[in-house]
Amino acid sequence: MANIVLEKLVKSFGKQIAVQDLSLEIKDKEFIALLGPSGCGKTTTMNMVSGLLKPDSGKIYFDGKLMNPVPPGKRGVGFMFQNYAVFTFLNVYDNISFGLKIGNMSKEQIDKEVNEVARLLQIRHLLRMSASGLSINDMQRVALARSMITKPQIFLLDEPLSNLDAALRAVMRAELKKIQQELGQTTIYVTHDQVEAMSLADRIAVMNFAILQQYDTPHNIYNRPKNLFVANFIGSPTINFFEGTYKSGAFNLNDFQKGNIAVSSKYNGQIDDMLKQQEVVVGIRPEHVKLSDSKSGISELRVKIASYEPLGSKTVVYCHPDANPEIIVKSIMASGYKPKLGESKWLEIKEKDLYLFDKVSTDLVLRF
Ligand code: ATP
Repeated sequence: MANIVLEKLVKSFGKQIAVQDLSLEIKDKEFIALLGPSGCGKTTTMNMVSGLLKPDSGKIYFDGKLMNPVPPGKRGVGFMFQNYAVFTFLNVYDNISFGLKIGNMSKEQIDKEVNEVARLLQIRHLLRMSASGLSINDMQRVALARSMITKPQIFLLDEPLSNLDAALRAVMRAELKKIQQELGQTTIYVTHDQVEAMSLADRIAVMNFAILQQYDTPHNIYNRPKNLFVANFIGSPTINFFEGTYKSGAFNLNDFQKGNIAVSSKYNGQIDDMLKQQEVVVGIRPEHVKLSDSKSGISELRVKIASYEPLGSKTVVYCHPDANPEIIVKSIMASGYKPKLGESKWLEIKEKDLYLFDKVSTDLVLRF
C-alpha cells in the first residue's frame, strides 16, 4: 500500500521558482503522469518525492507518514531516469541483481527474483550476455529491470522512453502499462509527450511555469481542459482557437469576414452569466472540423485550402479564412481526401464540439 500526498510543495533555485504550491494526491497503485513543457518543474517535483531534493516548504506524505525527514534510501522508492545507468562491464544478470546483492539475500532467492523480473520484461534470453553488446531497446529493459527488482512500492520514471525511436517507444509503452498493472506499484511518470501521458496514466497532472494547471483523467483533460494552455497542450494537431465576441446567441469571430457561429438559445443565459465580458476564445479540435461544399450546421465560416498532409489513415488539411491568410485552420478529413489548393470550402462544425474560453482569464467557461 502506498498512497502519496504532496501538500503545497515549493522549490526555488535562486530567483527561479521551479515548483510553486504544488498539491497532489496519488492513490495507492495509481499511475499518474506529470506532463508539461521543458522547464515546468516536473523533474524537480520527482526529485522532491524521491528525497534527492529538499522542498523549501510544503510536505510529502507516503501512507500518511511525513517523508520530509526520511532520506532517499529509506523511502521505498525506485526510480529510473532518462539517462539510465547500465554497467557495460557487467553482464545482464549482474546488472539486474546489482541492487539485491547489497542486501542480504541468498543466491537462490536472487536467482528467482532476477528470472522473474527478466520474464516480465522479456529479457531472459539476454541474462548471460555482456551489457556492452545490447541494443538501446534492450539496455532500456535492463535498466528498468534493475529498478524494478527491489519491488519498490513507489516507482518514479523520468522520461524513461525518450531515448528510444518512435516504434520502440510504442512497444515499451504498452509493456510498461502491463507491468505496472501486474505489479500494482504507485507510479509517477514524467514526460513532455502528451501521447505517452494520455495512453499510460490513470490521471495526468499538467504543469506550466512551475504551476499545476489541471489534475484529471485523460478523458477530462481532453474533453474539459481547464484553460487555453491545457487545451492547446493536448491533441495533435493542436486545437483551433478563434478569438471573437459573444452577443445575443452568436459568436462573431474576428478573423473571418462573415464570422458567425450561432448557438442554441438554451445556452444564452448560461453564457451571459459566465462571461465577465464579451471577449471570448472559441476552441474546436481539428477532428471536429469538416470541410464542405455547401453551408450547413451552425457556422457560416468560409476558408481556402492552403495545404494538406495525406497521413494514410486520415488527411490533415490546413486552410485559412478568406479574409486572413495568416490564420491557420486545421481540419482532419478522411483517408484519401484530396482537396484542390486555393479552393473555397465551408467549415462544418457542431455545437457539441465547441469549447468556450474567457479571453482574459483563459479559463474554460463552457463546454457545449
Ligand atoms: P525538462 O523536461 O527539461 O527536464 P522539467 O519540467 O523537468 O524540464 P525542471 O528540471 O524541474 O523542469 O526545472 C524547473 C526549473 O528549475 C527550470 O527553470 C530549471 O532551469 C530550474 N532548475 C532545475 N534544477 C535546477 C538546478 N539544480 N539549479 C538551478 N536551476 C534549476
